Amino acid sequence: MNTQPHSFERQIRWLKRRKAQFCTLSELVGRMNRQEEGRFVAITLDDGYVDNFTQAYRIIKKHGAKMTVFINPGIQDPGLLDVGQIQTMQQSGCVEFGAHTLTHPDLTRLDDVGARHEIDGSIRATEAVTGVPCTSFAYPFGRFGERDVRLVREAGMVCAVGIKSRIMPWSDVDPHAMPRIGTNGKVSHFQFCLAFSRGRHRL
Ligand SMILES: [Zn+2]
Repeated sequence: MNTQPHSFERQIRWLKRRKAQFCTLSELVGRMNRQEEGRFVAITLDDGYVDNFTQAYRIIKKHGAKMTVFINPGIQDPGLLDVGQIQTMQQSGCVEFGAHTLTHPDLTRLDDVGARHEIDGSIRATEAVTGVPCTSFAYPFGRFGERDVRLVREAGMVCAVGIKSRIMPWSDVDPHAMPRIGTNGKVSHFQFCLAFSRGRHRL
C-alpha cells in the first residue's frame, strides 16, 4: 500500500461515520445496476503487496469492511501476497481478488495477441488461486485503449477500473472503464475527504 496503515484506518473510520456501506467492486456494480439506495464504497488495492494481508486485511476485518485486491499472478516476488495469504483472505468473505494482468505491462503498448494473453491469462490464474470466478479487472498504470476495454469485456469481466479520478453519475460510467479516487501516502486526511466530495484532491 502507498498509504500508511493508520491513515488507511482513519479513512475507513471517516467513511463509516458517513454511513458508508462497504462492498467489493463487483458487488458495487451489481448494486448500482439494481439501482439500490445507499452510500456504497468499494476499496481497491493494486498489485497485491504483502501488506495487503498484514495491514489492510487486519483493518478491513476489524471494521467489518470489504476490499478488492488486484493481483499479477505472473510475477513472483517475496514482497507480494503468496497463495496461502490470498486463500485466507478469499475465504474470509471480505476480500475479492481481481486480475491485473500477468506481468503488469502497459497494455496500450502490446499487440492484440500479447494483450489478450496478459488479460485472459491473469483472469485464469487468479481463478486458479482463489477457486472462485474472477469478475473484476484493473488496468496496469490505469492505461488502456478501446481494444483493451473490449478484450476485458469479452473475457467476461463484470467491471474494470483505471485510475482516472472523477465523480460522475452511474448512468455515465462504463463499467469496463470505471474511474477511481486515488489515495496514497502524500494525500492528507483533508485531501482524502475533499476527494470524496469533489473527485479531486485540491480545492
Ligand atoms: Zn498496478
